[in-house]
Order: sequence, then structure tokens, then C-alpha cells
Amino acid sequence: MSQIYQIQSAIFCEPCKECGARPVLKLEKSKYTVMCPNNPNHYSTKPGLTDVSDWNLKNKAHKVFEKDAPVQKAS
Ligand SMILES: [Zn+2]
Repeated sequence: MSQIYQIQSAIFCEPCKECGARPVLKLEKSKYTVMCPNNPNHYSTKPGLTDVSDWNLKNKAHKVFEKDAPVQKAS
């Protein structure tokens, strides 16, 4: 049995890199997971303390990759 919480709007969260959704907080067995509300297969943080910064890092990394991609043209 798990509970899902909305993350306070004052807390900055990157949107899910897969679908653009704002993440939610899941509480299960006294451990928190920051996860995508739409699909459990999208990135989620390890169960434990609320780790929004890890979520932000992982979901931002993809954007950086996209931005870098065109730069890596072989001449
Ligand atoms: Zn998602």
C-alpha cells in the first residue's frame, strides 16, 4: 500500500524527461520516491529520503544531451 503526494509548487522540479509531467512523491513503507505520475517505468529516485535534486539531475541530463547532439557533427 502506497500513498502519492503532490510536491509543493514552491519546490522546483524538472518535468519528466519522458512525458513532461511534474513528478509526484510516493510514500511506501516509510520511504519516499520521487516519480513520474504517468508511468512507473519512467525515472524515479531510489526509495529513501525525498531526493528532488536527484530527480532534477537525471531529468535535466537528457536535455543537455539533446542540446549537445547537433554540436557533435564530424567534419
Ligand atoms: Zn513520465
